[in-house]
Amino acid sequence: MAQSIGMIGLGNMGLAMAQTLRRKGFAVRGFDLDKLRRAAGADAGLSVAAGPGDVFASCPLTLLSLPHANAVRSVVEGADGFLARAQPGSIVVDTSTSEPPVTRALARAAAAAGLAMLDAPVSGGPRGAAEGTLAMMIGGEADALARAQPVLSAVAAKIVHVGASGAGHVAKLVNNLLVAANLLATAEAMRLGVRAGVEPHRLLEAVNGASGRSAVSEVNFPRWIVSGAFDSGFTMALMRKDVGLALKLARELGENPKVAALVDVLWQGSVDSLPGTDDFNRIAGAILDRGSIGLD
Ligand code: NAD
Repeated sequence: MAQSIGMIGLGNMGLAMAQTLRRKGFAVRGFDLDKLRRAAGADAGLSVAAGPGDVFASCPLTLLSLPHANAVRSVVEGADGFLARAQPGSIVVDTSTSEPPVTRALARAAAAAGLAMLDAPVSGGPRGAAEGTLAMMIGGEADALARAQPVLSAVAAKIVHVGASGAGHVAKLVNNLLVAANLLATAEAMRLGVRAGVEPHRLLEAVNGASGRSAVSEVNFPRWIVSGAFDSGFTMALMRKDVGLALKLARELGENPKVAALVDVLWQGSVDSLPGTDDFNRIAGAILDRGSIGLD
């Protein structure tokens, strides 16, 4: 019988990816710190492990879907982690949005232990994970990617090998900085058009047929903002993390980006009016409806 694929972190993304893998014929062994998420995993037909070490010891390939770099660090280099428990030649694929310097250090430690680590952050949300249509940005060695490809192709429709270890996480931070900026800019511009008397759906149609369009105007606005659904599965807290990490990366490189700094002020500063558990599209909804995110 084929060996199971490991999945550590059974949240919005991890559980959806695990379900897609199962649908495509893979057995999945999963773990989450939260017992409710472990129960959700068991309900979805996963074999649920007692800890990350059990997953790593029994799965030659394990995906991580964790909230931040510290969680990734703990399951890779902790006492019950990948470095301590995995069989020689095993691969860990970090689909979390994480910090490039942490990723590079963990990948070096993995290589020194005869293991491999790829960074493989994703775009497309829980819906893309459930449909197996994520976009994946890879950092790491080509031979590890070739070995992981059949599994990654089951969850991702587009896979770009961006470069060496950390490059995938850099690309993801660049992507999300753009999304965060576009949400603010598009909402402000849309509010202007509506205040000037134009019907919102017609305005959106005009922009989406012209050069001001973006994924935010083409997907987020109709699907989650103008519709009032706000159920993308990606939270304000996670986007605040990503904007902060992008700005941190810029400053570590000696850059002083003005737009990114303002985007960061607006995302971090809106915390009193838009709690971390809110859908991340709420920031655009607040601008569109009220012209304010509570910072005036
Ligand atoms: P989530 O909070 O729903 O899930 C994270 C899960 O990790 C939680 O269930 C949590 O209990 C678990 N966890 C935390 N620390 C752990 C540990 N040490 N060991 C085991 N489990 C642990 O988050 P999510 O929305 O699924 O996002 C996961 C990652 O994917 C994040 O890095 C996020 O930035 C990224 N991402 C999310 C989306 C999205 O639309 N939700 C899209 C692209 C990328």
